[in-house]
Amino acid sequence: MGWLLEQVVLVYAALGASAAGLALVLGKAWRQRRVKAAVVGAATAEPPEPDLDESDADGERVFVIPGRMRFHRSGCRLLEGKDAEELTVKEAEEESFTACTVCAAREAVAAP
Ligand SMILES: [Zn+2]
Repeated sequence: MGWLLEQVVLVYAALGASAAGLALVLGKAWRQRRVKAAVVGAATAEPPEPDLDESDADGERVFVIPGRMRFHRSGCRLLEGKDAEELTVKEAEEESFTACTVCAAREAVAAP
C-alpha cells in the first residue's frame, strides 16, 4: 500500500510540475505577444519624421537688410522690424557681405 501511495504522490507531483511549466510557457508567450503588439502599435502610431536639414544641403541661411552690407543669422535683434532678404552664407560672402558683429557675439555665447 505504501508503494502505491508513493506512486500516486509522484504522479501528482509530476502533474503539478508540468502544469506549472505550462503556465509559465503560456504566460511567457502571452507577454511576448503583448510586447510585439506594443512595438507594432508604436511604429504605426508614430511614423519616423524625415530629418531634412536644409542648412546641410546648400549652406546656412542668413539674412541681409537691403542697403546694409552685413548679413545676419536667424533671430538677430538687428533684423527686428526689418524687411530682410534670405540667402545662404555662400551667396552672402560672394556678394561681399560681412558677418554682423551682434550675430557673431551671439554665436560665441551660444557655442558650447
Ligand atoms: Zn546680426
